[in-house]
Amino acid sequence: MKTDKRLAEAFRFHVVHGGYIVGSRALCAIRSARAEIRAADLERMSILRFLTETDDDYASSLDKRDESDQRELKMLRDGTLEVYTVSLQMRDSDNCGHTDTDRCDRRCGWRTEASLGGCTVLVSNQRELRDYLRTIRADLAIESDLSTPADPLPLPAGASRCVI
Ligand SMILES: [Zn+2]
Repeated sequence: MKTDKRLAEAFRFHVVHGGYIVGSRALCAIRSARAEIRAADLERMSILRFLTETDDDYASSLDKRDESDQRELKMLRDGTLEVYTVSLQMRDSDNCGHTDTDRCDRRCGWRTEASLGGCTVLVSNQRELRDYLRTIRADLAIESDLSTPADPLPLPAGASRCVI
């Protein structure tokens, strides 16, 4: 897909799903769209990846005395709610330093630039899950500052912070 088409599609998506505050929606959405495309290009070059893992610590962080936390716990137990940690990782080095390759795991050679835990999603709505994870990945891409001198991702004026 050509860059302008990709940017236009990504922009439309983030305007709708970004949940930005009124007044900065377009600026934040274009910033998200640019960061997302940059991340996708780096991902294609195998120097960036996103990991989406189950957040096992989330349930223990909930307060059993709190009513809304109780509801979430119940939904986690009956499988209607899932919780993820999403991470953006950059290729670190081909040599992780392990001399015994048995010690290597999937994290070897990658360093986490940004991550967000406690991303709760309803299992029943796969589209919502996909859209939500896409907005989180774009946020992580912004947070990681993937800009280069040749391909800057300038901060739009007046949009130094995009609130979700
Ligand atoms: Zn290793």
